[in-house]
Amino acid sequence: GRMSVGKVALVTGGSRGIGAAIARRLAADGMDVAVTYSTTPERAHGVVAGIGSMGRRGLAIRADSAGPTDVVEAVERTVRDLGRIDVLVNNAGIFPFGPVEEVTLEQIDRTLAIHVRAAFLASQAALRHMGEGGRIISIGSCLAERVPHGGVTLYTMSKSALIGFTRGLARDVGSRGITVNLIQPGSTDTDMNPADGPGAGDQRALSALGHFAEPEDIAAMVGFLAGPQGRFVTGAQLVVDGGANA
Ligand code: NDP
Repeated sequence: GRMSVGKVALVTGGSRGIGAAIARRLAADGMDVAVTYSTTPERAHGVVAGIGSMGRRGLAIRADSAGPTDVVEAVERTVRDLGRIDVLVNNAGIFPFGPVEEVTLEQIDRTLAIHVRAAFLASQAALRHMGEGGRIISIGSCLAERVPHGGVTLYTMSKSALIGFTRGLARDVGSRGITVNLIQPGSTDTDMNPADGPGAGDQRALSALGHFAEPEDIAAMVGFLAGPQGRFVTGAQLVVDGGANA
């Protein structure tokens, strides 16, 4: 795939898991790709090396999505070092889990900052540079649409905000030829949710296909939306969950 040669993408939380698979996929489609990370520079540089071996330019940027300025600076750095920005993927995320009574103020603020505020601020910054054909893609969760068990109220609240964000922003930028979409993954085998972790069996039992996604399964939907064939999809929620919500 060389269909997107000359385009530039930024993937937040691209050092591991779904974000790393997205970065590799967009590079395979021909894009130069910047990734942000907060704690694992060696993993981020490994992803960048993989992008380089595909003949594309990669860039690893330390940018903590929990703060208000790093993601904005990451967008500016992408434009400065790679020349432009065509695709923003809001992927960085955490998984607060546990009894609702024990959720702390700090956890609430941190989760909303990473999942909601950072997506808004990064998109706002990217839109200052994006032209016709631009793409904003956020990674939500199928749990934002159906919650089959307890312990995830904060997580699902934060991911649900991306639904309104996506609809609103699609209206704001549609006339510029920019699309805005939300992918709702189901159980995906990553450090956050290992396919051999406790509770993995319950997640498998909930899905129609009976197994976890690989990160590449989520990245495939990003690749479609980011590519030329995705141009008429906007304001949409794409559920990629193996039928967990079916
Ligand atoms: P991982 O925990 O495997 O990877 C998380 C990624 O996000 C890492 O690259 C990490 O960077 C980055 N990240 C975390 N916190 C921050 C922060 N404060 N600032 C910048 N980067 C940060 O998670 P997944 O790949 O599984 O998840 C990716 C997205 O997909 C998340 O939004 C998650 O909610 C969503 N999702 C995951 C599902 C699953 O089953 N795995 C299901 C549905 C949705 P670093 O390496 O530096 O720590």
